[in-house]
Amino acid sequence: MLSTMQDVPLTISRILEHGRKVHSTAQVTTWTGEAEPERRTFAEIGNRAAQLAHALHDELGVRESDVLGTLMWNNSQHMEAYFGIPCMGAVLHTLNLRLPPEQLAWIVNHAADRVVLVNGSLLPLLAPLLPHLAPVEHVVVVGPGDTSVLEGCAPQVHDYEELLAGRSTTYDWPELDERTAAAMCYTSGTTGEPKGIVYSHRSIYVHSMQVNMAESMGLTDADITLPVVPMFHVNAWGLPHAVFMVGVSVLLPDRFLQPGPLAEMIASERPTHAAAVPTIWQGLLAELEANPRDISSLRTVTIGGSACPPSLMAAFDELHGVRVCHAWGMTETSPLGSLAHPPSGLSAEEEWPYRVSQGRFPAGVEARLAAPGGGFAPWDGASPGELEVRGPWIAGAYFGGVGAEPVRPEDRFSPDGWLRTGDVGVITPDGYLTLTDRAKDVIKSGGEWISSVALENALMAHDAVAEAAVIAVPDDKWDERPLAVVVFKEGEKSVPYEELRDFLGENIARWQLPERWAVVESVPKTSVGKFDKKVLRAQYAEGGLD
Ligand code: ADP
Repeated sequence: MLSTMQDVPLTISRILEHGRKVHSTAQVTTWTGEAEPERRTFAEIGNRAAQLAHALHDELGVRESDVLGTLMWNNSQHMEAYFGIPCMGAVLHTLNLRLPPEQLAWIVNHAADRVVLVNGSLLPLLAPLLPHLAPVEHVVVVGPGDTSVLEGCAPQVHDYEELLAGRSTTYDWPELDERTAAAMCYTSGTTGEPKGIVYSHRSIYVHSMQVNMAESMGLTDADITLPVVPMFHVNAWGLPHAVFMVGVSVLLPDRFLQPGPLAEMIASERPTHAAAVPTIWQGLLAELEANPRDISSLRTVTIGGSACPPSLMAAFDELHGVRVCHAWGMTETSPLGSLAHPPSGLSAEEEWPYRVSQGRFPAGVEARLAAPGGGFAPWDGASPGELEVRGPWIAGAYFGGVGAEPVRPEDRFSPDGWLRTGDVGVITPDGYLTLTDRAKDVIKSGGEWISSVALENALMAHDAVAEAAVIAVPDDKWDERPLAVVVFKEGEKSVPYEELRDFLGENIARWQLPERWAVVESVPKTSVGKFDKKVLRAQYAEGGLD
């Protein structure tokens, strides 16, 4: 028997129209580096998203299912594209501006972007690529920049503000099937070639509701959120859509992502929430130590994208009174997969093991652990396995290219359709996940597994250590052994390896301790700010100092 309920498609135009009407005065503030930031209301963003859609339709000939790339920072115009493009039935393809140029070109061609919206400040990155971007017919320049670099290029060049000027501020959005493609994002390629994920209106709608739940980020119209996480990677963790549902004001950092300007914008615009990968917060902590600022407006920060060192969490708590919420997710999971809110009613001490875990799965994410020997590991907090997930905002395949079928590589999707995350961990009986490693990063020593994350977290708890990454290096006797790459804090004298080993030995079994070490100025990072272990493995294939 079917239900008697209305079948209203879950589309992004509904989120947009709701936000611009019901939360019309909520603010989108973009940091400009000038005395005064740019300020727009949700109503203005809605008007301009409609103007953008008219311009794209009437002037550039954009039609449903066309793919449009954005090479942009976190700013209000990017928000307008986030809504205007999918609401008209086209597909927003956010381009990761930190990828190597050849990978960026590969992605634009693979997705067949007809139009690229580009921030003026990023023209020097785009211009040399254009001769290699056959599908691109139009380039829309957003904000100031030196357009002379585009002279003689094949695509037509437009100015964003000129395109919008004088157009209608309402648009009769098409009634789309909720399964229609709305946005695309390619993985950052930490573990291989970039893979395209195509989000639907429905997946984004449902994911946005999850972002807004108290067990996730739980923001309200009293909040101002600072998404430091880039809008070019996994939709800035879903925040741009989620805020329009509940009227959360937004502070966007544009290209000012260095610790100094971040501290300054927090002190002056007083956000209550922020979201970023751990390396950003490590940088901010060091900055605040050197140049104290008032960041007391922050109530919580959501940290995810790679394991958050417990020492970082403790420092935010103790030094700044800011509560960190650790979260796990992937490009394939939109990205919310789990968040580490402890069960209620516990003391601070009892809460700690829950808070440093990767967290609890929300109702929309089903999880299981594929055991090393076959079958599934029990949720007993001790039996490890590869995490597999399924749910309405989780990818069921990768984009196969224009006109091609989606692809489901066996190492990424189980025969019954679950996503194989490549992450290894344990789950407690009450559904809290602790990741011990990426399958590719785990160190296999003499038939036993050593968790690189456990060693990294323990090292980063040492007073003299700013960053630490641990990788597997080949070993004749044990197959693999850990090598620790360490960055000492500024002004800290380097500590002998023996002392670091003894420090680790307080909590970690002796056979797991690294005997190979390297000291570096900074750990190489991926395009989204995670430790780049691929680069480290190539650098230290021969091992570090014994
Ligand atoms: P890429 O695979 O290109 O790095 P993603 O940004 O999608 O792209 O990365 C997802 C991966 O990041 C996860 O599979 C996991 O290995 C890692 N990750 C994300 N959040 C966490 C976390 N809180 N703790 C540990 N690892 C994490």
